[in-house]
Amino acid sequence: MKQELKSTKFGKYGGQFVPEVLMPALEELTEQYEKYKDDPVFNEELNYYLRDFAGRPSPLYHAKRLSKEYGVKIYLKREDLVHGGAHKLNNTLGQALLTRYMGKKRIIAETGAGQHGTACAMAGAAFGIKTEVYMGAKDTVRQRMNVYRMELMGTRVIPVKSGSQTLKDAINEAMRDWVANVETTNYMIGSVVGPHPYPTMVRDFQSVIGKEVRTQMMEKEGRFPDSIVACTGGGSNAMGIFHPFVDDDLQLFAVEAGGGGLKTTDKEALHSATLCAGEEGVLHGARTKVLQNKYGQILESSSIAAGLDYAGVGPELAYLADIGRIKPCYSLDSEALEAFHDLCRLEGIIPALESSHAVAYVKKAAASGELGDVVVINISGRGDKDLETVLGMNK
Ligand SMILES: *Cc1c(COP(=O)(O)O)cnc(C)c1O
Repeated sequence: MKQELKSTKFGKYGGQFVPEVLMPALEELTEQYEKYKDDPVFNEELNYYLRDFAGRPSPLYHAKRLSKEYGVKIYLKREDLVHGGAHKLNNTLGQALLTRYMGKKRIIAETGAGQHGTACAMAGAAFGIKTEVYMGAKDTVRQRMNVYRMELMGTRVIPVKSGSQTLKDAINEAMRDWVANVETTNYMIGSVVGPHPYPTMVRDFQSVIGKEVRTQMMEKEGRFPDSIVACTGGGSNAMGIFHPFVDDDLQLFAVEAGGGGLKTTDKEALHSATLCAGEEGVLHGARTKVLQNKYGQILESSSIAAGLDYAGVGPELAYLADIGRIKPCYSLDSEALEAFHDLCRLEGIIPALESSHAVAYVKKAAASGELGDVVVINISGRGDKDLETVLGMNK
């Protein structure tokens, strides 16, 4: 079932739907990634940074009190303890190191809420590579602290004033920059989305999560879990924990954001649940499932969790959903918020609102027995960044 790296596709999904001028850059990146992905020197250096800079391996924690409350044995994969407070650094360390091996002097990226941009800034500073991040002008105002965080680490944040002044305009500007400066510059994408090789490359860099879970589960339980549950925006924390288990006999649940509370199957109401309610289309260089209306126009997504607020999803997840290997599902804003409080109160762990969607699904599904006896939840990040949102919702 695992894809050959050489293939640009996952079934009918994936590919490289980009303007002709971008093709040489993608070809070079694909070639260089294939050259270094199994290189022992590259991997030794990457493992050094993952361990001594990022703090890996992240613990697998038996959440005893949450298990008792929900009625199923729960282990938490603690990506919230990774440097920067989320899984995103696993990927940016990989891509930044590749940038250096490729002999490029400059990193560019786009960021929405600022989480990927911050992870790029950390990796850029650690490797001493000039880093510039495109961000919608509106987002720079909404996410002032993340802009400041990036600037503290020496990254230049470039506000994008065109179009809707949000993520999709930032992506356009970053692509334009890459085409113009491909000799010196590498473009780092933050999830398993975009044209080939990004979905494969980002998945591979994030697979460190699932590889660790394999070892940790054998140490703690002497067997694999019955289910793995992960929240899904673009899908990088989900693919990272799923991929090493794709050929094993266990269930994989991809939990999307159902948004603001309409309990309905009407797809326009499932605000960010692309696997659940999306249809085939092309978004950001790849064929995948996309939230769109009947005219093919992209629907505005919305969720309390900024990291899940994306109208597309990684092409490999779309493929795995179609063949029935993963189970797409969703949690609503209100359910995620309740699970957020459960984890805070019962375990002393403040999860990201994104990760809270995964916890919420376990709460719903445990009673029906569909999860089996032992579940691993990927806690993709910590919730300190979300406290103002939660405070606002509780009023
Ligand atoms: C960015 C982010 C996500 C969503 O991105 P994926 O690519 O779907 O993993 C989830 N959780 C946290 C904490 C994030 O920062």
